[in-house]
Amino acid sequence: MSEASPLIVDVVVPLPLEATYSYRVPDEITGIRLGMRVLVPFGRRTLTAYVIGFTAHPPAELKEIIALLDSYPLFTAGELEFFRWAADYYLHPLGEVIRAALPAGINLTGKRQQSISIDGTTVTEEVLVGGRSISKERFYRPDDRQGDTARLRGKKLAVMEFLRSAGEASATLLRRETGIDAAGLRQLVQAGFITCEEREVYRDPFREEVRTRDEPLALTDAQGEAVRLLTAALERRLFAPFLLHGVTGSGKTEVYLQSIAHCLAQGRRALVLVPEIGLTPQLVRRFRCRFGDGIAVLHSGLSAGERFDEWRRIRRGEVEIVIGARSAIFAPLERIGMIIVDEEHEGSYKQGEGFRYNARDLALIRGRKDGACVVLGSATPQIATYHAAKSGKLGYLPLPGRVRNLPLPETVLVDCRGKRKDPLTPLLKEAMAANLAKGGQTLLFLNRRGYATYLVCEACGHVFRCPNCAVTLTHHRRKSRHYCHYCDYSIPAPSVCPGCGGGEIVHLGLGTERLEEEIRQLFPTARVIRMDRDTTSGKGGHARIIRQVEAGSIDILIGTQMVAKGHDFPGVTLVGVVSADAALNLPDFRSAERTFQLITQVIGRAGRGDQPGRVLVQTLAPEHYALTHALAHDYPGFYDAELAFRSELDYPPFAFLAAIELSATAARTVEETAHRIADELSRLKRAKAVRVTILGPAPAPLTMLRGRHRWQILLKSRQRSDLHRLLRSFREACVVPATVRLSIDIDPVDML
Ligand code: ADP
Ligand code: ZN
Repeated sequence: MSEASPLIVDVVVPLPLEATYSYRVPDEITGIRLGMRVLVPFGRRTLTAYVIGFTAHPPAELKEIIALLDSYPLFTAGELEFFRWAADYYLHPLGEVIRAALPAGINLTGKRQQSISIDGTTVTEEVLVGGRSISKERFYRPDDRQGDTARLRGKKLAVMEFLRSAGEASATLLRRETGIDAAGLRQLVQAGFITCEEREVYRDPFREEVRTRDEPLALTDAQGEAVRLLTAALERRLFAPFLLHGVTGSGKTEVYLQSIAHCLAQGRRALVLVPEIGLTPQLVRRFRCRFGDGIAVLHSGLSAGERFDEWRRIRRGEVEIVIGARSAIFAPLERIGMIIVDEEHEGSYKQGEGFRYNARDLALIRGRKDGACVVLGSATPQIATYHAAKSGKLGYLPLPGRVRNLPLPETVLVDCRGKRKDPLTPLLKEAMAANLAKGGQTLLFLNRRGYATYLVCEACGHVFRCPNCAVTLTHHRRKSRHYCHYCDYSIPAPSVCPGCGGGEIVHLGLGTERLEEEIRQLFPTARVIRMDRDTTSGKGGHARIIRQVEAGSIDILIGTQMVAKGHDFPGVTLVGVVSADAALNLPDFRSAERTFQLITQVIGRAGRGDQPGRVLVQTLAPEHYALTHALAHDYPGFYDAELAFRSELDYPPFAFLAAIELSATAARTVEETAHRIADELSRLKRAKAVRVTILGPAPAPLTMLRGRHRWQILLKSRQRSDLHRLLRSFREACVVPATVRLSIDIDPVDML
């Protein structure tokens, strides 16, 4: 800004407060601009606040800001408009929205600054200063005089093998690729196998992936048509939303890559959202191979400092493509020409607590503001998305067949009703044995981790439950403990029943850990690996398993839904679904949709290479339409059946939903509050004459979580504006006891 600093700034604070506050800028503070942070006196406290505007006519009495915290704006006026839209739509305070949109690391960086607050106490604030993106990293290479590696094994051997092909690698990369820890590396150095050198690096953990540049592929007809339509839309430089509906293995990624290339050639930038970036190393690698540097990757494995470094590269315009999970929708990328939402049906695009936004939905809003193409990609689009495409609200780009004319896998539904308890039917066992014999890879899917998910005493019937959550404990054999999968609670596995002091504890409810054990016994020569949250907890643990499967050094991959997610494993010729039933029986109107998506995605892992694939799905509900249509690769058939159900019960896409969730440690308090609030809603509904159905109050399906009792009220309306009107006036009027937590969830995804 060239003119003198304005006298009065309007700010919001990162607290659950709706209001905007004004402060005077003292003469000595200059250069203040929209999007910067300032330190302000606030009641008895000193707070960081965000400058969102300037006021020309100051009210009589104003406090002064204490300090200006930034030397450049953290957000633009255009981004502020986007934040405002989100705050308004999700009924969440703007200050908290802005805080959520900015990287957490922003407060970690720079100097701590002490200032005196108005009540005389000293407060310490983090102050952003530039130039701290350099950190030190250790690099390793094989020692020229290296000794005999024959006596090495395990991770150390893997390190040597990796270094032999890569020449040199950083500690970060070695840790990720081989799982070695600092002590292991030190021992290798001491034993003279490798040498170590410390160098300064610009932190970007994904950048150093080994890669070779590749060229655009010759497109299939369907891919070509999709790219042609996207290119034409890019040329118009107007908002244009699309559904890219491609069956598994149809080459959606190549469509993203080639249309993004066009977008970059226009001098515009691209934002790519993926459900969980830790689970999609293959996609990131393909982008790196095609576009090289100039890509920022934001993922949950980044430290706060790393995240901030990436954020700043983007803010400075050094980045052309941003790839990230949910929160990347707020990336400070300017001149966006294209936003991709890969696997748009994934529930993880929805933030489950605090500011409960949905990045998939916000992508459409941001795309509209920026005049960008928005591509929602999926083999199994949400019912609402396909509905929008059919009614012309989204452009429809179908990829109906697999690339290279590969067939979709042959599928078999295995009816397990009345069969013995054995988790694997003879049919599945025989198929596995045959596949193993001919050298094919098998993927076994079971969506429950741990050893046994239901532990009961045979003598007295005592069931092991979490004292904090309304769920049973899961036994983890390797750790010899029982865990709650919802909170931190765990206990050592007792040898006698705590209920009767004797008895035998029976392990029911098969989990992946136990399945792995059984598979190893059944196929002792097979190379087996398990992929679930327990085996991939370390940084890069996931990528390591994927690399092994890709390299063909695994025969049987066992896993939870992690294995279903978009991986491209050409060697997998058999997929076994141990049980398709768990997701079907959840008390949620989306349970059929989720099951259809999950099973379709798992099926899609088979037969992506030269050998055709086969899939066996075990179930107790062989007639369920979610399963029959998934096995028939029949999305439209499933859609028709599901739409009829949604229409009958007035669920999305026929109505819009909002949930009010209440929780408290005292069961009585939350129940009473829930009833009072439902009454209040009914009163407001009559007063405002809005067309909203109020369902509940009712206990949430998970009646207790982390020690808090939970109740819900569900609101449903065919008019989104009515829903918002009711909730806005409710928010102004509602008062709950301090011990009750109340949150409003617009377009809720997780209804448990
Ligand atoms: P999807 O995400 O649709 O399941 P992918 O994008 O993972 O599919 O593509 C599946 C495989 O097909 C990948 O190995 C990819 O490299 C390959 N592929 C994509 N497009 C083509 C093409 N036009 N010709 C040959 N192979 C292709
Ligand atoms: Zn618990």
